[in-house]
Amino acid sequence: NNAGLGSWPARRAAMSPGRTALIFGKRRVTYAELHQRIARLAAALHSTGVRRGDRVAYLGPNHPALVETMFASWQLGAVFVPLNFRLTAGELSYQLRHSGARVLIHDPAMPPVDAAVTVPLDAYEEFLEDPIHPDEPVGPADAACILYTSGTTGHPKGAVLTHGNLVWNCVNLLVCVDVASDEMTLLSAPLFHVAALDQCLLPTFLKGGTSVIMPSWDVDGCFDLIEEHRVTWMFGVSTMYAGLSRSPRWASADLSSVRSLMTGGAPVPAALIRRYQERGLLFCQGYGMTETAPGATFLEARESREHAGSAGLPVFFAQVRCVRPDLTDTDPGEPGEVLVRGPNVTPGYWDDPEATAAAFVDGGWFRSGDVAIVDEAGHFHIVDRTKDMYISGGENVYPAEVEAAIFEHPGVAEVAVVGVPDQEWGEVGQAFVVPRQGSALRPDDVPAFLRDRLARYKIPRYVDVVADLPKTGSNKIRKAPLRALPLPERS
Ligand code: ATP
Ligand code: MG
Repeated sequence: NNAGLGSWPARRAAMSPGRTALIFGKRRVTYAELHQRIARLAAALHSTGVRRGDRVAYLGPNHPALVETMFASWQLGAVFVPLNFRLTAGELSYQLRHSGARVLIHDPAMPPVDAAVTVPLDAYEEFLEDPIHPDEPVGPADAACILYTSGTTGHPKGAVLTHGNLVWNCVNLLVCVDVASDEMTLLSAPLFHVAALDQCLLPTFLKGGTSVIMPSWDVDGCFDLIEEHRVTWMFGVSTMYAGLSRSPRWASADLSSVRSLMTGGAPVPAALIRRYQERGLLFCQGYGMTETAPGATFLEARESREHAGSAGLPVFFAQVRCVRPDLTDTDPGEPGEVLVRGPNVTPGYWDDPEATAAAFVDGGWFRSGDVAIVDEAGHFHIVDRTKDMYISGGENVYPAEVEAAIFEHPGVAEVAVVGVPDQEWGEVGQAFVVPRQGSALRPDDVPAFLRDRLARYKIPRYVDVVADLPKTGSNKIRKAPLRALPLPERS
């Protein structure tokens, strides 16, 4: 009778009570304990008046309380809203108001924000009550969470994901990834973001594996946890994997437990894939977005060498197309916008009928805003976001391609390219390059390096060597602040 994910803790506790569900620092939580704690939190939330359809928010770095808040909310038929702790107080107030959260469970170190009931984590244990086991009938179409998008292109949008969306995404992932009952998954990305939550935590939980919770991203901490817990699987965006591969520990770290690594969420430079493959690691790329819960395409581990650089095939239970502006399908090799339709696709944005209407085209296809090329084998190659493309002298330039070429330079740690206005060419490229530690990279080196690698119109006119790049809470490079910077001297 209960199709919701709120039933998972009881099922898992019955199947594998003694197995470790979560590891957090020195703490280990079994499935039986987790089930009990969730039932106690459900009681406490119920006492504060949380009922079906209400929103319950969590604000803070990755922590077992986030997992408990999520499942307890689902047991009451409530909607879970994990918030991005890297946002400012003003942005957080907006999201709390917009989602209308009744209860906020938060890290006391976070900026003060308002909700009807706030529970700081240092008062969390006392907040728990005697367990209840609500039997709220929840169906696949009921909202499970509101996940705010990364805000890479503007204000984060609150995508509603239903219980059905989450289950289908799990199924789609498990078709492609052999998540095992003894999986040791490192939750290295933030759990307020769809990748760690839906691609790592939920499938690992479903299979009865163990999730190692990393409070926040750092390269050394990641190597430490992989070695200590013999981690088998994790997700990271390119900037995270680039950080690991540029570390002095890269060559010596014991990565022998790792079965495969999953990436996505941002363009993946070919040089990065090569670096991991040369280290003997299976490096699998997926493509998706918050609104598709998130998997849209996936490259299986066993295909990851032959189809390196591809984001794989459409996930099993969804349709993915690549279309021209008139919505006809592109030919193999022709760039077009990615559309997605399937049981994993959001019903829309929370309290935002305009954005919802703009996001779908006829037939219920969700518009990704991303450009991809489908090859003869049906594999998707993600080119870039439509919004990031610029036109120089009448030619389309996709910054991700230019970034991948610059990333081949051994002295480059991170790079971002944006289009800027130009009197003569309409737009030209501006590259922001973070040099690798110890490298004496100069702006002039970049165009010189690209001369034989890229057509002239793709070579950035301006190059800035910078100490770091602005990032989203999910560690993606934010381009809007870069576009607003003044131009450097012409190099
Ligand atoms: P916002 O929608 O708020 O601007 P966002 O689109 O970055 O932020 P997410 O839902 O976290 O928010 O990210 C989805 C986007 O990430 C996709 O639309 C795509 O642009 C990018 N992306 C995901 N996977 C890949 C990939 N494998 N290669 C290139 N880009 C990817
Ligand atoms: Mg988006």
